[in-house]
Amino acid sequence: MAGICVKDLYKQFDEVVALNSVSLDIQDGEFVVLLGPSGCGKTTFLRSIAGITDPDAGSIHLGERDIVHVAPENRNIGMVFQSYALFPHMTVENNVAFGLKMRKVSRAELARRVKAALELVDLADYARRFPRQLSGGQQQRVALARAIVIEPELLLFDEPLSNLDAKLREQLREELHHLQRRLGITSVYVTHDQAEAMALADRIVVMNAGRIIETGTPVKLYRQPRYRFTAEFLGHTNVFSVETEGRRGWLAWGSEITLKQEAQGVVKVSVRPEDVKLEATAVDAHGVVETAVFMGSSITYRVMVGNLLIRAMASGNETDVIAEGQPVRVSVPRSAHVLIEEDEI
Ligand code: ATP
Repeated sequence: MAGICVKDLYKQFDEVVALNSVSLDIQDGEFVVLLGPSGCGKTTFLRSIAGITDPDAGSIHLGERDIVHVAPENRNIGMVFQSYALFPHMTVENNVAFGLKMRKVSRAELARRVKAALELVDLADYARRFPRQLSGGQQQRVALARAIVIEPELLLFDEPLSNLDAKLREQLREELHHLQRRLGITSVYVTHDQAEAMALADRIVVMNAGRIIETGTPVKLYRQPRYRFTAEFLGHTNVFSVETEGRRGWLAWGSEITLKQEAQGVVKVSVRPEDVKLEATAVDAHGVVETAVFMGSSITYRVMVGNLLIRAMASGNETDVIAEGQPVRVSVPRSAHVLIEEDEI
């Protein structure tokens, strides 16, 4: 196993700059998730590490080795794709054995390692089947076994769960998380699904337009994002303009908040819906519930304060769902807002 050190990676396709001098250090054993909207360069970054795409400039070190000019098959990297990419005419065990045969591993060792890999993904009983005889989730587990059987220094995942239905996606996400922690293989995982990123990552790398916006643990990026892009990409949030006076500021409906840093003029704050408190009241109400949606574990509200839309979320076990049309008092606890910056790009 090894960490990766990527420096100033640059890639342009015609006039599109897919990677604009991206640098990232990934620790040995770390699970890093690249998160960003479609077209932000995630796949190009991953494919550059794999050796499928040739970057125009920059270096990639895997451990001590500079691998930019090393052929993909000599990089010792396992890769799992969205499309599974299994060989349809080969049995499950032959699919998994493929990489080992290429490496001229002895027959006895090959048999042992294929069996162990299939056991790891819980498919030992499916060794003689063909891919078409498996469900999508099982096929993706075969692809995972095929990636880990070569004992890679690094595992790369390109949206591997996107083709599965919601329930299975969640189940496989948990299995993957568990397996990666158990094996401790350095992993880079690409997705545009923030829930998947939060569930899997030791560290999330938020990307947009060929650049890294910011990186941090899921908790850090959700609770203390530096940039508006991160706040809005990781779950829902409300972004308010706040008129400041020293450390104090006023939200649009006159509620006072205390800013942790000295801020000047008009600043932006992000407030998560679950931090917005609603109180049904006829007196002193400054908002009106426009929609209330009961989701089981939560209730989500859209509230209008004048012409300002506010998203609020309450726990689903609150006894009353506030009715649509109900006047409400809206408040935000002093500690629940985060000062954010507009994005650099
Ligand atoms: P998605 O989530 O949709 O896969 P992504 O974040 O992975 O998006 P990339 O696939 O890395 O994004 O693409 C980054 C940019 O580079 C996009 O604008 C894309 O259209 C462009 N691009 C990627 N590959 C090629 C190519 N082979 N030829 C031309 N343009 C490309």
